[in-house]
Amino acid sequence: MKVCDICESKPAKYKCPVCGRYVCEDDFDFNKGVCKVCSETMCEICGKYPSIGYCMICGRNGCEDCLIQVTPVSYVCKECIRQGRYRLETWQSIS
Ligand SMILES: [Zn+2]
Ligand SMILES: [Zn+2]
Ligand SMILES: [Zn+2]
Ligand SMILES: [Zn+2]
Repeated sequence: MKVCDICESKPAKYKCPVCGRYVCEDDFDFNKGVCKVCSETMCEICGKYPSIGYCMICGRNGCEDCLIQVTPVSYVCKECIRQGRYRLETWQSIS
C-alpha cells in the first residue's frame, strides 16, 4: 500500500498531475485537481500556472501571466491594476 506523500499516514488515493505526489483524499484539492501543496503554490488568480510571487495590494499568489512586476521585489496583479487600485507610474522616482 502506498501512503500519502504529504501526511504520510493515510493511504494515497490520487496522483497529483503537477508534482507527481501520491496523496490521500484529505490532501487533494478536488476543485483544482492538484495536491494541497500545489494548490497552495498555484496562481490564485487564474489557477493554471505555479505562482511566482504575490500581489502587494490584494496579497494573492499570482503567476507570471497574472502579475506585473512593479519594482525589483514586488508585484501587482492585473486585476488590481484594472480596478485602478494601483497606478503603474506611482512607484517611479520623480527626482
Ligand atoms: Zn494525506
Ligand atoms: Zn502536487
Ligand atoms: Zn495566473
Ligand atoms: Zn491584486
